[in-house]
Amino acid sequence: MESKSILVVEDNELNKKLVRHLITKAGYTVYESIDAETGIQLARDHQPDLILMDIQLPGMDGLEAARVIKADPELKHIIIVALTSFAMEGDEQAVIEAGCDGYITKPISTRDFNGRLLQYFNE
Ligand SMILES: [Mg+2]
Repeated sequence: MESKSILVVEDNELNKKLVRHLITKAGYTVYESIDAETGIQLARDHQPDLILMDIQLPGMDGLEAARVIKADPELKHIIIVALTSFAMEGDEQAVIEAGCDGYITKPISTRDFNGRLLQYFNE
């Protein structure tokens, strides 16, 4: 079976390390970026099946990156799952309006994480 690939766009080293650990263990191919601009380029280069997108990033934020990806005919099929702490009221709506297919809240629950990803792949 061909393994699914996931692009992680996350600037926090600890979160990135945790997510990398979880999805590598589950057998996914992983690409990583710490900023949105590089993330979008990696999405173009590798056409991952899913993007885990941190919202708060240096420079372009994750919401803007989601809009760019979902406006691009070559990229819009890619599932985007926001990684967010929902610090601000209205964040959930903003994530969906930006075109994200869903979200996983921080702090990341290691127990549920890969199960959540499977739900997105089974759609
Ligand atoms: Mg961040």
